Amino acid sequence: MSRPTRLIIDTHALVHNLKKIQEFAPQKKIIAMVKANAYGCGLSEVIPTLDGRVYAFGVACIEEALDVRRLGSRSPCVLFQGVFSAEEYVLAAAQGFDCVLHQPHQVQWLLQTPLKHPLKVWLKVNTGMNRLGFRPYEIPRVMQTIKTCSWVAPQINLMTHFACADEPWRPENQQQMDAFAQINVQEFSHISMANSAAIMSFPDTHADVVRPGIMLYGVSPFADKIARDLGLLPVMNFVSALSAVYENPPQGQVGYSGTWKSERTSRIGIVAVGYGDGYPRHIEANTPVWIQGAEVNIIGRVSMDMLAVDLTNHPHIQPGTPVELWGKNIAVERIAQKAGTSGYELLCQISERVRHR
Ligand SMILES: *Cc1c(COP(=O)(O)O)cnc(C)c1O
Repeated sequence: MSRPTRLIIDTHALVHNLKKIQEFAPQKKIIAMVKANAYGCGLSEVIPTLDGRVYAFGVACIEEALDVRRLGSRSPCVLFQGVFSAEEYVLAAAQGFDCVLHQPHQVQWLLQTPLKHPLKVWLKVNTGMNRLGFRPYEIPRVMQTIKTCSWVAPQINLMTHFACADEPWRPENQQQMDAFAQINVQEFSHISMANSAAIMSFPDTHADVVRPGIMLYGVSPFADKIARDLGLLPVMNFVSALSAVYENPPQGQVGYSGTWKSERTSRIGIVAVGYGDGYPRHIEANTPVWIQGAEVNIIGRVSMDMLAVDLTNHPHIQPGTPVELWGKNIAVERIAQKAGTSGYELLCQISERVRHR
């Protein structure tokens, strides 16, 4: 027996979510976003499941794309932050990685680094996120410059990213679409705009290629919806088990700082999971876990390796009983809300010591 704290990755749910994406964006090419270890779900399960079913994989940096190659995938990979040094172009071109260009110095490095293999590039345009990218009026000039470079593949692509697509009512969305519409897109091979929220909210932004991330993993990007409302299935099941059960007398406090006290004789369970595994330390009162078909509340402070639950109304639950922190029964979006954060962050925060099963 080993520590029962595990991730169970539901690859059928992953394929189901991919089909949903294809329903939202029929006929569109799909770049599956797998940055940050496939949103914490683990590249080693996600890449073999999606390989051959998507147009390309999307990552933040070359190290992540190399991890995709190490798993045996020959699919295109797009480095969405481009390169962080001129030398990375040599490796990227040799491996067939597409590079995003979002800064003048990345263009300069490219012109100064002769490549044996043609490099596929995406120009990133800043339409209002104001983080990375060229302004729309700069695009024709950048395009002229890179078109003359003999080691840039002739099919040049164009992309942008939405700042507020998870809040579809906000005027910034249309403003970004209007800014994008200023660009003459004729010259570009592929156009891509939509993340998960835009895939679901703005069909007009699907263009040639969509870039789903969070929805692929069965998590809602919208604050007022959970995955099930959108027809998506959770991919990540975060589970553990009860490592101890005991009776606590009236007024007995539980855990660090004794922030919780029994009012009456209580039955307390200890679950073998804590913030050292990526469970959030800061959660509101009455945050649930799932034990034997019921929601049971967490009490007291979450420790590094364990947390306590109130089993007073469940006298028959014994040590060793499985516990779901989030997954099929407890939506991760609910825990995110209780923790004052997003499903994105909770998925990415799962720590390395959590084994997969
Ligand atoms: C992460 C990322 C996405 C996916 O965003 P989701 O909200 O997870 O769908 C799309 N495009 C780019 C450039 C990204 O970095």
